[in-house]
Amino acid sequence: MEWKWRTIIEPFKIKSVEPLGFTTREERLRILEAAHYNLFNIRAEKILIDLLSDSGTGAMSAAQWGALMQGDESYAGARSYYNFENEIRSLTGFAEIIPVHQGRAAEKILFTLIGGKGKYVVSNSHFDTTRANVEFSGAAAMDFPCREALDFERPAPFKGNADLRAMEKFIKEKGAGNIPLCIMTVTNNSLGGQPVSMENLKGAQALCRKYGIPMFLDCARFAENAYFIKLREKGYGGMPVRKIAEEMFELADGTWMSSKKDAFANMGGFLAMNNKDWASRARQMLILTEGFATYGGLAGRDLEAIAVGLREVLDENYLQYRLRSAEYLGTGLTGHGIPIINPPGGHGVYINAKKLLPHIRPQNFPGQSLACRLYLEGGIRACEIGTLMFGRRDAAGKFLPAPMELVRLAMPRRVYTQSHIDYVIEVLGAIAKDTGSMKGLDVVEAPAALAHFTAKLRPAAEENRPRKHHVQKTTIR
Ligand SMILES: *Cc1c(COP(=O)(O)O)cnc(C)c1O
Repeated sequence: MEWKWRTIIEPFKIKSVEPLGFTTREERLRILEAAHYNLFNIRAEKILIDLLSDSGTGAMSAAQWGALMQGDESYAGARSYYNFENEIRSLTGFAEIIPVHQGRAAEKILFTLIGGKGKYVVSNSHFDTTRANVEFSGAAAMDFPCREALDFERPAPFKGNADLRAMEKFIKEKGAGNIPLCIMTVTNNSLGGQPVSMENLKGAQALCRKYGIPMFLDCARFAENAYFIKLREKGYGGMPVRKIAEEMFELADGTWMSSKKDAFANMGGFLAMNNKDWASRARQMLILTEGFATYGGLAGRDLEAIAVGLREVLDENYLQYRLRSAEYLGTGLTGHGIPIINPPGGHGVYINAKKLLPHIRPQNFPGQSLACRLYLEGGIRACEIGTLMFGRRDAAGKFLPAPMELVRLAMPRRVYTQSHIDYVIEVLGAIAKDTGSMKGLDVVEAPAALAHFTAKLRPAAEENRPRKHHVQKTTIR
């Protein structure tokens, strides 16, 4: 529908509501201490606005709730499976449709089949579970983000693109025979939810064809990506977003999806391809780890909800509102001088904590410090993507910080309204005025891998705190 007004409204009305978890600052301080300054340890009831993740946190529509009741829970050959299969086939064009309980299950199955020692998987950027599953198979996960992606400040329309020249150089170096797959992640979650252009997808396809490497889309946010193409890429402005999505899938040899994102489901996913041999081996693994081929770890009702969600997500009124909400949050934060990855991506806004808190050293976790302050002041939960998540020690025990210190404000789909977002902007604005009082955190205890989920922290000890003359009262320019 054509929309001539400046105000973009939520394209839904609310039928069922849930109360938010109000707490006092004093309570939140106690909760933070008990949670060891790890926001994954806080009960969701004690969160006012939860921007930890957009995964599985969306609101289902009345049509999806209705479809749940239509779920066919037969062990084999359920009607719900065929609805699911039809919907995914007609959207993606792939013949072999394999249901899984979530995205990483598809990754585990796929890389068990095609990964292994001595192999390299190439990508615009691997999402963290994708990387973990590639590496668990023994293969190496190689990222080739475009240059624009690494400059957080300067906006560019398609910062999710791959650097295809660097990728080709690598393929030549290692030999195409050692590269079982190229993954294009749409949108590029690890680098800010940034879109990939059709041109870049076409380039990746041509490169893969040239070297005989299959290309798959990791398509968790395919609809957001398709709408960005409609808005930003020449020649697509007049095309229905569904056609753009179909064109994206046409370029690929297969795909997998975490349906907890752009299918508005609370759980689910699929793996889809044309290669019959891979599909038949994947189904063997599926039966071993997920379930029979027509349910794959999901209830019949989940399959129905996903089938409906995949249609709903391509509604352009929804997508306009969706991308506009992230942009609205981004503009609000920029107005307070808060540095963000620019422009905002599809599913949220990423704050550059390294720039906001230059006085806190990486080993004192500027991103996590900001995320904890955000909870303390406003009951808002966000996710650190920085040294707590990606910091490492090398073989000699030397501390290696992450290349970036980000705080992601991920927006659940159809859940919060503009006034919730106004509140988030106001709280962050107040925090940004008083960054000098933030002192950083020390690690008490952390496992070697995926530390951010279980690490325990505490306010930085006196000797680790930034010294007075290092403290910049306000870092905002
Ligand atoms: C969420 C996500 C995954 C993993 O999916 P889960 O459903 O969380 O297992 C994989 N790739 C991308 C790009 C994602 O966003």
